[in-house]
Amino acid sequence: ERYVYRFGGGVSDGGSGDKNLLGGKGANLAEMASIGLPVPPGFTISTAMCTRYYEEGEAFPDSLRQEVADGLAHIEAITGKKFGDASDPLLVSVRSGARVSMPGMMDTVLNLGLNDETVEGLAKTSNDERFAWDSYRRFIQMYSDVVLGLDHGAFEEALEVAKEDNGFTLDTELSADDWKALVAEFKKLVQEQQGAPFPQDVHDQLWGAVGAVFGSWQSDRAKVYRRLNDIPGGWGTAVNIQAMVFGNMGDTSATGVAFTRDPSAGHNAYYGEFLINAQGEDVVAGIRTPQYLTKTAREEAGAKPLSMEEAMPEAYAELAAVFDRLERHYRDMQDIEFTVQQGKLWMLQTRSGKRTAKAALKIAVDMAAEGLITRDEAIARVDPQALDQLLHPTLDPNAKRDVLTKGLPASPGAASGAAVFDADTAEKMAADGKSVILVRTETSPEDIHGMHAAKGILTARGGMTSHAAVVARGMGRPCVSGAGALSIDNKAKIARISGREVREGDLLTIDGTTGEVMAGEVATIQPELAGDFGTLMEWADEVRRLKVRANAETPLDCQTARDFGAEGVGLCRTEHMFFEADRITAVRQMILAEDEKGRRAALEKLLPEQRSDFQAIFEVMAGLPVTVRLLDPPLHEFLPHEEAEFAEVATAAGVDVDTLKRRAGELHEFNPMLGHRGCRLGVTYPEIYEMQARAIFEAALDVAEKSGEAPIPEIMIPLVATKRELELMKAVVDRTAKSVFEERGKTVEYLVGTMIELPRAALRAGEIAEAGEFFSFGTNDLTQTTLGVSRDDAGRFLGSYVEQGIYAKDPFVSIDVDGVGELISLAAERGRATRSGIKLGICGEHGGDPASIAFCESVGLDYVSASPYRVPIARLAAAQAAL
Ligand code: PEP
Ligand code: MG
Repeated sequence: ERYVYRFGGGVSDGGSGDKNLLGGKGANLAEMASIGLPVPPGFTISTAMCTRYYEEGEAFPDSLRQEVADGLAHIEAITGKKFGDASDPLLVSVRSGARVSMPGMMDTVLNLGLNDETVEGLAKTSNDERFAWDSYRRFIQMYSDVVLGLDHGAFEEALEVAKEDNGFTLDTELSADDWKALVAEFKKLVQEQQGAPFPQDVHDQLWGAVGAVFGSWQSDRAKVYRRLNDIPGGWGTAVNIQAMVFGNMGDTSATGVAFTRDPSAGHNAYYGEFLINAQGEDVVAGIRTPQYLTKTAREEAGAKPLSMEEAMPEAYAELAAVFDRLERHYRDMQDIEFTVQQGKLWMLQTRSGKRTAKAALKIAVDMAAEGLITRDEAIARVDPQALDQLLHPTLDPNAKRDVLTKGLPASPGAASGAAVFDADTAEKMAADGKSVILVRTETSPEDIHGMHAAKGILTARGGMTSHAAVVARGMGRPCVSGAGALSIDNKAKIARISGREVREGDLLTIDGTTGEVMAGEVATIQPELAGDFGTLMEWADEVRRLKVRANAETPLDCQTARDFGAEGVGLCRTEHMFFEADRITAVRQMILAEDEKGRRAALEKLLPEQRSDFQAIFEVMAGLPVTVRLLDPPLHEFLPHEEAEFAEVATAAGVDVDTLKRRAGELHEFNPMLGHRGCRLGVTYPEIYEMQARAIFEAALDVAEKSGEAPIPEIMIPLVATKRELELMKAVVDRTAKSVFEERGKTVEYLVGTMIELPRAALRAGEIAEAGEFFSFGTNDLTQTTLGVSRDDAGRFLGSYVEQGIYAKDPFVSIDVDGVGELISLAAERGRATRSGIKLGICGEHGGDPASIAFCESVGLDYVSASPYRVPIARLAAAQAAL
């Protein structure tokens, strides 16, 4: 089996179709080389080698040595330099590259191949001693950090001390001799820290780096990243070994990162940063503040240092031509790394650029309009989950702002929360339900878990392509980066901004759209849903088959859902209407009543309340179906606990407190989720469902009279296991309808159906469909009961289950297609066999999950129902499922 694939110099063993084998970076380097773009020659060790490496106990097969030697020979032939040659050494970069970009892994080692001898050769051939020694110290520093795993702080400190001793502020002020001295210092540090000298054999260096790349695949950071992003551990990473080109060979050299369009707002304009006389990591690390790519961007920002367009017009023109070529070739916005070595442009990477939801929308809609992609492709390009970023509130422009400083608008959206200065504390406080803003000098992959837990991220250093910015955009977290006025004292947990202090726990607000950092919490407003969002939603609505409804039980939620395009209410949980302070006492009175008479007394108080609830909802949802589920309370959620609550209920019911407490004791359940809930309550106390049915019909008639447009109530019976339960409950509803219609002399259309949320109901769906006019799959309970996993307790262990691949995803988030899914398709089939065209929907949390929606499409359900803010996500996901 072959593991090494070459590229460059007219050879391309792979191409962009080989991402699984070569990783994204390797596949695209090969692709760029094959379409004639300037790519330094190199080769990729495939992901299959990574898998084999782990299978064989972290060792390389002998055959790989020969393949790597051939790969090096390929580079040597094209560059005319030899690896390890003391007079004219070939230097290489070693970079990891998985199928998808993974910031949790080892990224890059540059200048590999330098040692005490080759550095002299480099000095001679480049005619630049300073450059050679600077490169060597960079190499030792990077290699010690990412390959040897030594403490990088010590190296940075040594550099700082060297600058201080000489009275320098910039790295560029150090001379060749200064770098030489520092190299000696660095080598001493290596010897001290690892008890062995820095490796001088260039082949040892290379194999060390290759091993480190493979090793980084199983690092904790990489594992966390994979878990957060659903990346299978079996994929492995590739290793790319490529001839070095130098952006740090003087003022005609430069390095940069760029996007072919603005990844933040989506504008069709080149976007990026570069640094003259620098190496790649300088741009990302935020050590020097990068310069703009285009003149327009520089002028808009009011910045002084010349843009690349102005400073290097020829290289810039060549780069711009490459941008256009790449966009046309890949038909997508590209994220690019490049280096200019003494005036000559080299491409080091291209990939589809990460973008904010806003940019994703705009770019998809624009590219469809430009004819670069079709409308269907535009629909498929936008990640439905990412729309979440757009649907949440932004800062109210009229709200008062106490602006502390302004940084770069690195990832849009606004967030408020308590300032926290380290990732672990951020995670802890978020777990306690607090909103936090993670405030760091700069972030690194070690901060990922804290960034994920935070509502927003603020950094003092780093540009628009810094780690913080890229990761925050990927996660959809608002981020302000490079707020230079911010200085952080991590020990004291204090940030100083423009003469003011922010301590841990102090409230901060950041606006990732403008870059503003504010003290306190700032009011927010609802998002704008027109424009590109509206356009894409229209396109999605044209292609989707599934209808989208909302889970909502307040008029406000119903209105939000309608504004987001909901085509009805798929689940109105009536027990949620009973939690309100002014009625909980009556509800408790009803539950604790000893007999029907006592219950009816309480129900009498609840009837007008329920009726007005339904009126309000029917008014908002005029003309659309509303599925009202009759009471399904896990009783323990309603029982009184405190003395005062018992006293209140006792007064309302006219009984003494002790009687009530005894009754509460009788009602105690060991397993309330499998206890006296759902239709079991209706079977034992039919007067409860009778009251609810009455409230629904009276409200429907009222609204029909008032507005002329009758709502279509779909009355739903919960937790049914048998046909008989449904028959009994349907009889209660029909009887109530009959008497209300007689009293009022008018009728409305209605349906009676059931939830399918128990395995027995799914299996017996054929006969249940004889009684029920519709099914709605309650996949929360169906998952709980099919897997035998308590939905309230699953959090404690499901994480390990997902980590160990027992379930691919949390089955309460994304439907367990093999198990729960089989019950659903079976129930759908059996239900349809009895009642052809029976209306089928889903109303569990899965109704807003794109993967579950794809499953619903595959079994041909009629609609999905999701929480209001997920309605647009469901619309887009339903369209993608239909494509
Ligand atoms: C369900 O079980 O999926 C459902 C929608 O009902 P609830 O979450 O209210 O139990
Ligand atoms: Mg349920």
